[in-house]
Amino acid sequence: YFVKDERVLELDQMLLSMALRDALTGLAKREVFFSELHREFERAKRHSRPLSLALLDIDHFKRINDDHGHLIGDEALRRVSDLIRLSMREGDLSGRYGGEEFGVVFPETEMNGALLAVERIRQAIEQTPLKMADGSEINLTISCGLATLRDGDEDKLELLDAADQCLLEAKRTGRNRTVCRN
Ligand code: GH3
Ligand code: MG
Ligand code: MG
Repeated sequence: YFVKDERVLELDQMLLSMALRDALTGLAKREVFFSELHREFERAKRHSRPLSLALLDIDHFKRINDDHGHLIGDEALRRVSDLIRLSMREGDLSGRYGGEEFGVVFPETEMNGALLAVERIRQAIEQTPLKMADGSEINLTISCGLATLRDGDEDKLELLDAADQCLLEAKRTGRNRTVCRN
């Protein structure tokens, strides 16, 4: 047999992290997030436990890219990701779900607890503008859709769809807000 030296172990870690995490934000990749959602959904159903899912989408992100360039756009994505991570509790799972869309799974969490967490994220983002080199600031906001598992939900896609509908409603009704489905 052979013993892996430290450099090889480091490389293993790096490759594993590259496979599972989004390079820009460090959050779980979409596929990883999906499989975590799947696992938590099945567990919650099986044991009749609460589960909540939030989808978060940066408001007018195209405008940020168009007005300030993609490097600033990327910085905005990292900022939002950092604030998501900071506001989560141990056991919560986050991922980069699309270009400027993020998901958070809250195991063992009813609507009220998840809403507190999502609002904490939304307010932190609202209160932390990006500071530019020239001293100007760019305000960032997100819209959020939040759905909690119902008895009738038979597949994780139903929960995902409910959160997505809520997100669309948050966009329609003015952005920088959270809409929930119980
Ligand atoms: P809304 O408030 O309705 O969400 O408007 P929006 O402009 O955020 O939504 P839209 O879906 O029209 O635009 C999303 C933009 O996100 C378009 C795309 O160029 C940008 N984007 C997606 N991924 C990345 C990325 O990795 N880096 C950067 N800089 N931009 C990205
Ligand atoms: Mg979007
Ligand atoms: Mg958007």
